[in-house]
Amino acid sequence: MSSTESSTPSIFSRIIAREIPATVVRETDRLIAIEDIAPKAPVHVLVIPKTERYRDVVELAAGDPALLAELVALANEIAAERADGEFRLVFNTGENAGQTVFHVHAHVLAGGLKESSLG
Ligand code: ADP
Repeated sequence: MSSTESSTPSIFSRIIAREIPATVVRETDRLIAIEDIAPKAPVHVLVIPKTERYRDVVELAAGDPALLAELVALANEIAAERADGEFRLVFNTGENAGQTVFHVHAHVLAGGLKESSLG
């Protein structure tokens, strides 16, 4: 077992295995998209690689850039379906950045975010 793998499944792996309920928005061979349980925007969907091999987006980009590209494409499709196609894609990376689940996931935030711009 490498240092990036843990002995217990992450909460997202348990959702993927249907051990914990979640509202599934989309599912592909390698990704699942679910409603965030504590939404911070009118649309707040998590897009999650099914593998928990990558703890954050840096590891994912280095280890499987094609999967990262699939994730971005799925986020775009969800934003087009659920909002006006414009969206914020957030990867909290590390505890000090607010990451609490160390199984890489993207927050897709959309719908009326203009007034809460980070820039
Ligand atoms: P943070 O908790 O600071 O947002 P993360 O970036 O690690 O840190 O995001 C984890 C996200 O997973 C949170 O937005 C949280 O609301 C969400 N979450 C946790 N448990 C569940 C669950 N069972 N179903 C759906 N979303 C969940």
